[in-house]
Amino acid sequence: MSVFASSHFGGHKVLIRVDFNVPIKNDVIGDDTRIRAAIATIKKIINDGGSVILMSHWGRPIKDMEKKPELTKADFSLSRIVSQLSELLGQAVQFADDCISDEAADKAKNLQAGEVLLLENLRYYKEEEKGNEDFAKKLASYGDIYVNDAFGTAHRAHASTAVIAQYFAADKRMFGLLMEAEVNAAEQVLHKAEKPFTAIVGGAKVSDKILIIENLLHKATDIIIGGGMAYTFFKALGGKIGASLCEDDRMELANELLAKAKAKGVNIHLPIDSIIADKFAADANTALANNMEIPDGWMGLDIGATACTAFSEVITRSKTILWNGPMGVFEMEKFQNGTKTIAESVVTATANGAFSLVGGGDSVSAVNKFGFADKVSYVSTGGGAMLEYFEGKVLPGIAAIKG
Ligand code: AMP
Repeated sequence: MSVFASSHFGGHKVLIRVDFNVPIKNDVIGDDTRIRAAIATIKKIINDGGSVILMSHWGRPIKDMEKKPELTKADFSLSRIVSQLSELLGQAVQFADDCISDEAADKAKNLQAGEVLLLENLRYYKEEEKGNEDFAKKLASYGDIYVNDAFGTAHRAHASTAVIAQYFAADKRMFGLLMEAEVNAAEQVLHKAEKPFTAIVGGAKVSDKILIIENLLHKATDIIIGGGMAYTFFKALGGKIGASLCEDDRMELANELLAKAKAKGVNIHLPIDSIIADKFAADANTALANNMEIPDGWMGLDIGATACTAFSEVITRSKTILWNGPMGVFEMEKFQNGTKTIAESVVTATANGAFSLVGGGDSVSAVNKFGFADKVSYVSTGGGAMLEYFEGKVLPGIAAIKG
């Protein structure tokens, strides 16, 4: 059993770093997934008879208020999520309208067993992102146990996500249930992968995914490359890619990656063909083309039928799958087939016993859009953090707990 699950929190004040950075427009919460994801951790503590102090950031108040003087702190306030949080927890949640004021300290001090207090946005203070020790120490004084359940910010060495952990003894700092699940899923793929291990990398730009591909060259047996980033590879190979996305300054690197993969015996799978369009629009005219011969003025916006078949064949025989980034402009119906087909293949492989992890903002939206989220092994909530983990970096939020 995990440290968190086997702990008994009765009589303790538990300070939890959560990620409540949910989309809010006109004071209405769009997608409350991140709030829901923290509920199990909070409930375990209050059911044990502990009390909970929650801290989170929301948006970028200091930077945004500098850019747009019409914005005020109220536009970034976590008070806007109190009622939704109370509803999901089934109990009232107290709120402190500053995270390090005397009022916040008093409210934390007077918190009774089973009660929950939410602190105002940590990023009202520049000290949070700077990882200031005094600020972290002040926050630490509110609780006697520190739980980090904010995987989405685990790649940041901020006061509340990393620096704070040093003020708690090793047995008084731990991951929450969400963070634990994220870390376990990521470790399963990176360190305990059963082979064949296929990494599917897509999305717009090669430059965003270079480090992840390089690191996966040491781990994966197969790497599938799709989406806009594939065209830089085809141009580097001497192909004609028309008006498709391309980063000319990355062509040399694309060739280097292919050479490294060859030397290591890793199979790189590029899409043979594309659905091409005469403009970047939902109502564009479309055709099928080989990726070495895309006509001038046309752009590849999805992988084609041959690529779908080839990629599916690789995916369905895999035992471990990591998926980051869509195969095409899946937001438009005409260009969603490739991403949908790949999602279906990941689902099939999972049903046949593979471990599949989907991570990174847009592939997560894609599996949600196609209704496959509960048919893969794990869907990560942490876009940037997951990416950095798979780039082989040490995440400060994880290191701070593990010591
Ligand atoms: P990323 O954030 O780098 O994972 O990229 C995701 C975005 O890439 C999505 O919004 C897709 O619409 C876009 N995308 C995927 N394939 C293509 C393509 N062939 N051309 C242009 N954009 C693409």
